[in-house]
Amino acid sequence: MAEASEPSVLVVGAGVIGLTTAVVLAERGHPTTIWTADPPDQTTSMAAGAVWGPYLVEPADKVERWSLHTLQVLKELAEVDGTGVHIVSGIEASRSADEPPEWAKGLDDYRAAQPDELPDGFSAGVYFSVPAVDMPVYLPYLLSRFEAAGGDIKLRTLESLTPAFDQAEVVINCSGSGARDLVADESLTAIRGQLVSIENPGLVDFFSEDTGESEDLLHYLPHGRTVVLGGVAIDGNWSREPDRATAAAIVERCASVCPAIGTAKVIDHRVGLRPTRPMVRVEAERTQGGFVVHNYGHGGAGVSLAWGAASDVHELIASSGSTLTR
Ligand SMILES: Cc1cc2nc3c(=O)[nH]c(=O)nc-3n(C[C@H](O)[C@H](O)[C@H](O)COP(=O)(O)OP(=O)(O)OC[C@H]3O[C@@H](n4cnc5c(N)ncnc54)[C@H](O)[C@@H]3O)c2cc1C
Repeated sequence: MAEASEPSVLVVGAGVIGLTTAVVLAERGHPTTIWTADPPDQTTSMAAGAVWGPYLVEPADKVERWSLHTLQVLKELAEVDGTGVHIVSGIEASRSADEPPEWAKGLDDYRAAQPDELPDGFSAGVYFSVPAVDMPVYLPYLLSRFEAAGGDIKLRTLESLTPAFDQAEVVINCSGSGARDLVADESLTAIRGQLVSIENPGLVDFFSEDTGESEDLLHYLPHGRTVVLGGVAIDGNWSREPDRATAAAIVERCASVCPAIGTAKVIDHRVGLRPTRPMVRVEAERTQGGFVVHNYGHGGAGVSLAWGAASDVHELIASSGSTLTR
């Protein structure tokens, strides 16, 4: 339970970044409230696939630290029932025999894929095991853990951070792509993603193509009874509506590698806006209104960075110490 000696905190946002940060702070004794424009199940985070892997995100040194921290936490959560986290094995493959991604090399079971494991048209690949996160289970798990630590959540849309400064000693800005308007960050853009969720036709392993800079992605990820198919990465597109032609193309790409996908029942279409800026922003700022710690702009890797970034937020509050005055 929260102890009154720790500064009170208001977290703006209830995606994976806001919820994870709120869990960390509430469990470390900060009286913590979340204000969010959307409930967790209507956020970009809900749309994510999701699998661990630092994708579309900088700066490299912090991303490596945050992602390794998060990898460890997700592995631990995979041991716990009801978290939505599980370990999945599979292949990331390439049609052009490129070097495998650096970040994959430290993963469990990492090895070169055998030629007979690769679909037609692919020349190289690597096999590894990695945490996968079923977001419709994981976000409610994070919310219940936050509430169990004494946290409170309210639906509220902010035009600026001013009302938040009146509510708590520290404001944490976890507004994702909303930060573009909320704190006038013009460096932030959306990279639109769309996925299709289907009934699992019996898949156990994931598959992902290294598609380089292409807008069209090819990956599928089983979560027990469902499989999530991807995807797209469309820079500067802010539409949150599923596009029918995009969905059909995603199914067709995945079925070209795994034909059983082509006849499986479609359950759901998911769309999210990857909040992308040149660098993820995790930093403290003392404004005229009050003390804010920003934690947004995690691009295509928020699920993979959340625990590490939240730990840095806690450090930034702790190191501000007694100077935390409004
Ligand atoms: C299709 C797709 C697949 C992905 N796959 C993966 C993956 O496999 N692995 C991975 O690590 N990452 C993945 N990502 C990226 C990941 O989903 C994002 O990095 C992450 O969800 C960002 O989380 P967030 O909490 O910052 O933003 P969001 O989830 O968008 O949450 C932002 C929150 O802020 C609130 N908010 C915004 N503005 C305001 C305001 N003015 N007032 C009050 N509240 C406000 C919103 O209501 C919301 O609650 C994927 C993304 C997409 C779209």
